[in-house]
Amino acid sequence: MDGSPPFTQVQALELVVHCLDRSYDQTPRAKAFVRALGVVKGLDPGEVEALVAADILTDLDGIGPSSAAIVKEALQGKVPAYLAKLEATTQIAMSDGAAAVRAALKGDLHCHSLWSDGGAPVEAMARTAVALGHEYLVLTDHSPRLTVAHGLNRERLLAQLQEIEALNAKLAPFRVLTGMEVDILEDGRLDLDDDLLVRLDVVVASVHSKLRMERTPMTERMVLAVANPHVDILGHCTGRMIGKRPPSTFDADYVFAACAQFHTAVEINCRPERLDPPEELLALALEYGCYLSIDSDAHATGQLEWQPHGCEKAAQGGVPVERIINTWSVDELLAWTGA
Ligand SMILES: [Zn+2]
Ligand SMILES: [Zn+2]
Repeated sequence: MDGSPPFTQVQALELVVHCLDRSYDQTPRAKAFVRALGVVKGLDPGEVEALVAADILTDLDGIGPSSAAIVKEALQGKVPAYLAKLEATTQIAMSDGAAAVRAALKGDLHCHSLWSDGGAPVEAMARTAVALGHEYLVLTDHSPRLTVAHGLNRERLLAQLQEIEALNAKLAPFRVLTGMEVDILEDGRLDLDDDLLVRLDVVVASVHSKLRMERTPMTERMVLAVANPHVDILGHCTGRMIGKRPPSTFDADYVFAACAQFHTAVEINCRPERLDPPEELLALALEYGCYLSIDSDAHATGQLEWQPHGCEKAAQGGVPVERIINTWSVDELLAWTGA
C-alpha cells in the first residue's frame, strides 16, 4: 500500500477507500468514504484544519462523523483508529501454495483507470503496484465500442500513451506498459485499428457483448480473436458472473488449442465475482499447453491486491509458475508479446 504514517488527511481517506476496495466492500459506507475523499481533496488543507479546530467539519455536505474522525486523527499525526482496524481486517489470506505463486509475480497485466471505468488515476494505480512489489503494470482501459465503460477512442488512447510516457520518466525503473482491453466484436474482429494495436505493449481481448451467442458462432468468434497476431491475452474467457450470469457457451477445445497455437495467454481473472476460467477449463487450458496470466482486472487501487485469488486457483490447478507470463521479467514479457 502506498505511503506510511504520518498520513495527510487525504492519504488517510485514500487508504480507507483502498482497504474497502480490497475487501470488495459494496456497502453505502464505501461510497460515503469515496465521496468524503472527494470533498476533502477539493479543499485547501488549511481550510480543513480550521474546520476541524472549530469542530464543524461535519457541516460539510458529504462528511459524516466517521470521515471527520479520520481527518482529525490524521491531522493529529496519528494513524486513524478506523484505518488501523481496516488494515488488519481486510488483508487477503493466502494458502502457502498461493503465496508461492504470488511471490513469483512481477506485474499485473489487466487494470483500468479513470480513463475508462476505473476509479483512480493511472499514477495512483502505478504507485500502488510499486508498493505491492511489482516491476510493471499494464494499463488496459476499455476500447471505443464499450461506451458504458467510457471506452477510449483513437484521440483519447493517443493522449493516454503520452501520459504514460511522462509517468514512466517519473517512476523508473518501474514500468507502466501500454495496453487496452479490446472488445471482441461479434464477428471476431477487434474493436481497435491495427495501427494502434501494433503500438501497444500488451493487448487483452475480451467478450463483453452478445455473451449468450450460440456455441458455434461464439467458438468462431473467440478463435478468430485469439488467432489475431496483435492479441496477447484472452480476458475472462467465459464471461461468467458468479451467482448472476452463467458462463458463455463455446467449444473450449478449439479456443484453447488456438490460444496455444497462436501464443495467446489465457487469463486467470482475479475479480471475486468472475474467477474465470472455472477449474475444469483451467485444467483444459493447461492440457493444451497454453500460457496463463494472473490479472487483477482492478478498477481501483485496492483491487490491485486481488491477485492472490487467482494465485489460489493456479496453485490448486497445479499451474507451473514458468507458464504464467507475468512471472517473467519485463524484457521477456515484451519479447513474447512482440512489442
Ligand atoms: Zn472485461
Ligand atoms: Zn477489465
